[in-house]
Amino acid sequence: MKKKQFKTESKKILDLMINSVYTNRDIFLRELISNASDAMDKLYYLSLTDRKVKLNKEDFAIHIEIDKENRVLTISDNGIGMTEEELDTNLGVIAKSGSSLFKEIHDKKKDVNIIGQFGVGFYSAFMVAKEIEVTSKAFGSEEAYTWKSDGMDGYSIIPASKENVGTTISLYLKDNTENEDYDEYLEERRIEGIIKKYSDYIKFPILMNKEVTKTEEGNDKTETTIEEKTLNSMIPIWKKNANEVSEEEYNAFYSDKYYDYEAPLKCIHQKLEGQVSYDSLLFIPSHAPYDYYTKEYEKGLQLYSNGVLIMDKCADLLPDYFSFIKGLVDSEDISLNLSRELLQQDRQLKLIAKSLEKKIKATLEEMLQEDRERYEKFFDAFGMQIKYGIYSSYGMNSDALKDLVLFYSSKEKKRVTLKEYVSRMKDKQDKIYYACGESIDKVDLLPNVERFKDKDMEVLYLVDYVDEFTIQALMSYADKKFANVSSENVDLDTEEEKEALNKKNEEAKDMFLFMKEALPDVKHVRFTNKLKNHPVCLSTEGNISLEMEKVLNSMPTGENVKAEIVLEINEGHPIADKIKTLYKKDKEVLSNYSKVLYNQARLIEGLPLENPTELTNIICDLISK
Ligand code: ADP
Repeated sequence: MKKKQFKTESKKILDLMINSVYTNRDIFLRELISNASDAMDKLYYLSLTDRKVKLNKEDFAIHIEIDKENRVLTISDNGIGMTEEELDTNLGVIAKSGSSLFKEIHDKKKDVNIIGQFGVGFYSAFMVAKEIEVTSKAFGSEEAYTWKSDGMDGYSIIPASKENVGTTISLYLKDNTENEDYDEYLEERRIEGIIKKYSDYIKFPILMNKEVTKTEEGNDKTETTIEEKTLNSMIPIWKKNANEVSEEEYNAFYSDKYYDYEAPLKCIHQKLEGQVSYDSLLFIPSHAPYDYYTKEYEKGLQLYSNGVLIMDKCADLLPDYFSFIKGLVDSEDISLNLSRELLQQDRQLKLIAKSLEKKIKATLEEMLQEDRERYEKFFDAFGMQIKYGIYSSYGMNSDALKDLVLFYSSKEKKRVTLKEYVSRMKDKQDKIYYACGESIDKVDLLPNVERFKDKDMEVLYLVDYVDEFTIQALMSYADKKFANVSSENVDLDTEEEKEALNKKNEEAKDMFLFMKEALPDVKHVRFTNKLKNHPVCLSTEGNISLEMEKVLNSMPTGENVKAEIVLEINEGHPIADKIKTLYKKDKEVLSNYSKVLYNQARLIEGLPLENPTELTNIICDLISK
């Protein structure tokens, strides 16, 4: 018998298919089951539109059979089947999809749900089979035919005998090699696992015979029977209406699918119809996965087309700053090319992603308004990601995220939003003040912060390393600029106070120059009136604050940035008089005192000592005198 050859371009695709396109060979089963489901959809459609066809939805099923001895896996359906000619055209030429043809013929009547508009699905079976036999009897035909191929040397079609309408596909599994084991596809549990993973929501039952061993009560006799088991659950939870699904069901689904022992913080079930249509089920986890803040973490949602899983982690559906979202999207609108694995930058997909992002943002904002405690829990887990989202985009994502960030407030003694801060601002206040440090407690004790608290001004405490960078990327909120309380531009003084201070600084100019000589890291030394009890503090000039210096210098890139440091001395403190006296009487001691004062200020700011040995020697000298 003469063998027919695959078209040349088909052969190329076939090679590509088998060797590289699908990295995950398990999906062959999904492809065959989708095809079977399509074929049953078509016949079911006829039963709805043609009175001569008397079939119910319940009559349809897919059967899976395992023949361990001969190493054959068989998938059969009682769908519409294929004629001799259809076997030739559908399976002989890749990328000519009978499904889309059928769809065209039957116009856009809504009842027909056809998942396969793809074109190479069937051939994925050659990833696991050395030979495939397709025996089919088309609806309305008396004859059956068998299509047979090893995927390399073309294919043949011969008459066959088959009782019922439908298609039976037998895969003769490849021989095992040292590296590859194909026997796994002869294990019932493995097949069941693949079906559960990829085809759980196919709306027709997928049946398989299973051995069931029972022990009779009262005696030790065991009995093994063969039972037919439905492997798929058939109704996707996201296809139901939200009011038909209980919280427990959502939670069970979540923990089952996403392997999380803790219930999600929030479930977002959305059914959208319009410019894009989709059903989505999204979850905000209660805690960050252990690998969340590492490179290993992969964001993404599962993408379904009409109940068939197309992609396990579709990254394009989520922006990075919402990468913590788990869940899935099911849409009929998605156009797919070459294969389901190679979903390209698709317009529909982008629309869906945009719509999902809006929904996630709105949900978080609502939670922030209505369930603050829950939102704070969310922020504990993923706040860093939100802040990082602002910072890493150089503020481009600010609009989306600025109302989602929280910072601790000196006034409220808890975390507040920027909106809340601005709503409380005093009439003349035109800046949003913040202070940085290692912890809330430490920032609270900073001399610069005390001064603001005394004037009843609210200060935001930035204690995460990313915080100040986030603020810098935001630049402003509601037209109010941000200002670090320890930057020298911040002034709360009246004109008279300023003048009096200027005068004192002018008089002590030479002394400060002298002190500065002992302090190579310090740009200026001066008096201040902003400190209440503390003798000294540090402030900075320019864009780099002390906190940023700390963070940037701790990065592995070997940065070495320097903040422009100002040593400020409390002009109302007894130390002010002491240094003035020393400047006149004992310059050498003043030089040492300058070092002590500067290092004290560093300690208060949580900065390391520049030269601990020198400092301890000076202090010891002072004590011994
Ligand atoms: P696709 O399913 O993406 O169209 P396939 O290569 O998987 O591409 O299948 C090609 C065509 O073969 C299908 O469009 C369909 O017309 C036909 N076909 C495949 N499997 C079956 C089946 N079980 N029953 C009837 N027709 C089938």
